[in-house]
Amino acid sequence: ASRAKPVDVDPSRLSITKTTDPKELKDPATLLFGREFTDHMLTIEWTQQDGWMAPKITPYQNLSLDPATCVFHYAFECFEGMKAYKDKNGNVRLFRPDKNMERMNKSTARIALPTFSSTAVIDLIAQFAKLESRFIPDQRGYSLYLRPTMIGTQKTLGVGPPGSALLYVIASPVGPYYPTGFKAVSLEATDYAVRAWPGGVGDKKLGANYAPCIVPQMEAASRGFQQNLWLFGEQEYVTEVGTMNMFVAMKNKETGQKELITAPLDGTILPGVTRDSILALAREKLAPEGWMISERKYTMKEVAEASKEGRLMEAFGAGTAAIVSPVRTISWKGEAVDCGLSEHEESGEIALRMKGWIEARQYGDEEHEWSHVC
Ligand code: PMP
Repeated sequence: ASRAKPVDVDPSRLSITKTTDPKELKDPATLLFGREFTDHMLTIEWTQQDGWMAPKITPYQNLSLDPATCVFHYAFECFEGMKAYKDKNGNVRLFRPDKNMERMNKSTARIALPTFSSTAVIDLIAQFAKLESRFIPDQRGYSLYLRPTMIGTQKTLGVGPPGSALLYVIASPVGPYYPTGFKAVSLEATDYAVRAWPGGVGDKKLGANYAPCIVPQMEAASRGFQQNLWLFGEQEYVTEVGTMNMFVAMKNKETGQKELITAPLDGTILPGVTRDSILALAREKLAPEGWMISERKYTMKEVAEASKEGRLMEAFGAGTAAIVSPVRTISWKGEAVDCGLSEHEESGEIALRMKGWIEARQYGDEEHEWSHVC
């Protein structure tokens, strides 16, 4: 049962109240992820009775919510992470926003929050991003991180479908994930905690999926590892890395054919926009070079074996924040599984090429349908 309508989001009803106190721009080189925000925010309220209200762009401000509001008690919250880029002509561009909105509608529907017209909200986000254009540095690697969020706003301790909700979007200027070039990371294969499970909600972007991953992340950090490699089940399937999708490139044991592998979307994997983009690019550009492109289950044992036999070429995480994040080693059962980089290398060739191909489309150097000009 979809909880949208009777009235869908209508961009023609947008009202814009501009700030009278514009912020001073920070030196882009000093930006820390998610700390600085732009002048404005986009908000759209929803009620069960009336559907979606008129969208508003207002000065960035605090929300005022009753302590009994359902989001604080039962985690009626989901979000998205996407970016706006400035191209060489000064146009603001979104990257595959249809994918983010499609995913957000699946997240909201799963937790009894209302769905909405993706095209209407993309239109509003585009207007918002364009209004904040001065916050987007026009250098390569810089962008405006956009955080669409939906919360249940009904004031009740009763556990039930929220009768009211708020969709809002805030924006944070961000710099390159690797300001001085790639830095390959070391992972701890995590088996004592599970990020997602069959029949669960790991394939939805719910806030409730993220808080429980922080303690395992702190544990891994205390042992000197940058991220968790989330394994699943007795077979120790490789699922995701931190908050990124995981890719490995290895040579087939029998045929020697090169294979790029990522876990299939079986309900335990977040359907990453970057993951989808990498698969599409791999099918477009690597398959003709003889690569096999696989969405399939694979185990930590298989990765360790390939490493031992010198068949593991590289491994990397994939997500909006970094695009790709090369992996040097995986600590598994007290053993350091080498992921194929030589001592002086910080990235494998596939990760490097993928980053270049994706950036070309994000920044509009290559005109492509993935890029949405605002
Ligand atoms: N997996 C998880 C658990 C994530 O939180 C993210 C970030 N949204 C991703 C993968 C990567 O998704 P995307 O490429 O859409 O950023």
